[in-house]
Amino acid sequence: MKEVLEQALKAQDRDLCDHCLGRLFAHVGTGTTNLKRGEELRSLIDQDRSSRGLGPMKHERCWLCDEIFEQVPRFAEAIDLKLQEVQYDNFLVGTRVDPAVQAKEEELWSVVGQEHAEPIKSELNREIGKAVYAINGKDVEFKSPQVVALVDTRFAHVELDVAPLFLYGRYRKLSREIPQTKWPCRVCQGKGCQRCGNTGKMYQTSVQEQIGDVILPHAKAKEHFFHGMGREDIDALMLGTGRPFVIEISSPVVRALDIAALQEEINEKAKGLVEVEQLRLSDRDEVRRVKDSAHDKEYRVTVSIHGKVNKGRVDEVLRTFNRTRIVQRTPVRVSHRRADLKRERYIVYVVLEDFQDDKMTLRLRTESGTYVKEFVHGDEGRTEPNLSEMLGVPCTVDALDVIGVIDSSEV
Ligand SMILES: [Zn+2]
Ligand SMILES: [Zn+2]
Repeated sequence: MKEVLEQALKAQDRDLCDHCLGRLFAHVGTGTTNLKRGEELRSLIDQDRSSRGLGPMKHERCWLCDEIFEQVPRFAEAIDLKLQEVQYDNFLVGTRVDPAVQAKEEELWSVVGQEHAEPIKSELNREIGKAVYAINGKDVEFKSPQVVALVDTRFAHVELDVAPLFLYGRYRKLSREIPQTKWPCRVCQGKGCQRCGNTGKMYQTSVQEQIGDVILPHAKAKEHFFHGMGREDIDALMLGTGRPFVIEISSPVVRALDIAALQEEINEKAKGLVEVEQLRLSDRDEVRRVKDSAHDKEYRVTVSIHGKVNKGRVDEVLRTFNRTRIVQRTPVRVSHRRADLKRERYIVYVVLEDFQDDKMTLRLRTESGTYVKEFVHGDEGRTEPNLSEMLGVPCTVDALDVIGVIDSSEV
């Protein structure tokens, strides 16, 4: 304590409020406030001064903060008012402090020492947070607050940063005409032009819009982002148990949604295009899990055979693909937008479901990221080995559907 007093005495020539005096020693002990610490130190400093025949330490208007702590109730009221614009269960207060005040604080630290000090911003955040809590009774949440109220202490102006809402589900795509995500027009980049009929989009709708556009009005939000566990081609169906996804709704005014009712409404409105199941609340961590997961996929492929081959030979060739690795160069059809790479992919199995002379249906399971169409037709030898080559007759894909996405990370 003697050491602390010695340090505190270095501040005696400044006009400081008890908050700013006490905050210099915020980390000395716990169980008290900067205000209390300041009061105690002031009386110790004054005793020391009086023993040297000096009057008490001067305090009229704080040199450092200009008595900003007197305004805490005013900031809290402004925040509470602003927070009434959204629905929330917990919150956090942030402050923007005048840079001139922060500069003065650093100057004071250089005189008194910084090792026990706390920045004014932290004390303001805490004190205003407590005052808001006293008004609204909502929890202060540090780790992932639903809303951060940022107050600019110069003007008592409040801005809200509302955390997005995340919903997890699995979708089936029943149309070969729509993409998974919203696709801005290539010509106008979404502004609207002749090419896109002023819609700003390449496709009229998407899985993302079929789901997100239903949620927006309920959440009173304006924008959604879609995170799928991989994606299928536009002309592929997504069947079976569906593909996991997380949809992110930014800046929701309403957070308490009836999710079962939402799912019903989505399925009603998207009839024939998209189906959703297992819709539930989610979080940002799950977005990462869904996007990063390595997942096997199951497909059903309808293939045209351009030549003569018998069923026995097909069965024989398909067996050779069980548990094998293939090497795929970036397909010709996507090479204009992706780097030309060679990648190894694992084929778990390929089975024949139906065979006619010039058509067959295959079911196969592959590692995520396998180009299945290229595996069938060979892509001019860019996929090795491939089905056409092994059969000795050219084969092409008529239809490709995803019938299962195996979410191995699912708990
Ligand atoms: Zn002060
Ligand atoms: Zn356009």
